[in-house]
Amino acid sequence: MSAIKIKRITTELLDIPIKRPHQFSTEKVATKSFVLTRMELSNGVVGIGEGTTPGIWWNGESVETMKLVIDQYAVPLLLDEEADYIERLLQKLNRQIRGNAFAKAAVEMALFDALGKTYGVPVHQLLGGLQQDRIQVRWALASGTPEGDIEEAKSYVHSGTYTNFKTKSGHDSPGEDALRNIRIAEGLNGLSTIGIDPNGSWDRITSMKWMDAFFEAGIDFLEQPLPPEDIEGLACLSSMKKVPIMADESLASVQDALRLAKEKAADIFSLKIHKSGGMKNTVKIAGIAESAGIACFGGTSLESSIGTAACVHAYASIPNLNYGSELFGPAWLADDLVKNPLTIKDGFIFVPEDPGLGVELDEKKVEEYKRKEVKGALSR
Ligand SMILES: [Mg+2]
Repeated sequence: MSAIKIKRITTELLDIPIKRPHQFSTEKVATKSFVLTRMELSNGVVGIGEGTTPGIWWNGESVETMKLVIDQYAVPLLLDEEADYIERLLQKLNRQIRGNAFAKAAVEMALFDALGKTYGVPVHQLLGGLQQDRIQVRWALASGTPEGDIEEAKSYVHSGTYTNFKTKSGHDSPGEDALRNIRIAEGLNGLSTIGIDPNGSWDRITSMKWMDAFFEAGIDFLEQPLPPEDIEGLACLSSMKKVPIMADESLASVQDALRLAKEKAADIFSLKIHKSGGMKNTVKIAGIAESAGIACFGGTSLESSIGTAACVHAYASIPNLNYGSELFGPAWLADDLVKNPLTIKDGFIFVPEDPGLGVELDEKKVEEYKRKEVKGALSR
């Protein structure tokens, strides 16, 4: 059989509206931006991938930087290379392009999609096969008030849509945030539970002060309360043995995973395929967690059905995904880029079974949401 080579890679920027403005710790957003990546192989198969990020505040990358890095630097390294040599190609990218994990993940995604379609198998088969065929999804509450969040959560639980939740913190003062979360947790007592994510905006003293109250309120986990660099602080909080500590922004590379494990700085790893540079690295990180007795949570960069499919294939193939996921991206966006969006039902997202990522690009949607003019890097 002749070698299948990478023939063409293209990128385009898209902006998709979201159902309701979303308050992160640093900004409020009304649309979500994506870089759509298409990779054509010499056998005529085209794979798709997407790059996206919660915002440039998250780790320094944006869809605009991803597009530039892919177009100017990744494409010349990959063209005419044999597509089957996935790991070798990723190593080549890593040697020649430092950082830029989100951009690399978008390329890897298109490569896996193209290879899955070539061999007629879903991507999870290329990652080692399934541990489960569905993953629990935790919905993010962000109505703006504790009462609104409690009502929203109750209605989801009663309708069976979602059974547990996560809140975003960091917009208010840490003390106000803590009280708001305790109020929500108590309002849902006996019905459901929440995890808290301040996106690294608290400090050690604030976090320590509230650990007992969080434990009493039955909070499921405290995700990245401290800045990404404060590994020692995370280890202090974890050693308190109150609410499990989840690492998100502190965890990107496999080396980060090993350091967190060695320093006992996390009880749970929030996996994200974009921050780690793709599905393969994510599976490697889950392996480190497994060996260290650390649980995993399926994190999201708020992908459309394309990126969410990649997350599902990776997360469903690892054995220690003990805290479910937050893969609600397709339900959070007001529209999608594929003809067959992923199914979220009864609180679970289902693994696609068609070849590749298992989603089919909708060209009409691509045309509709394509960024029409070149704007400044910070405008949307
Ligand atoms: Mg997070």
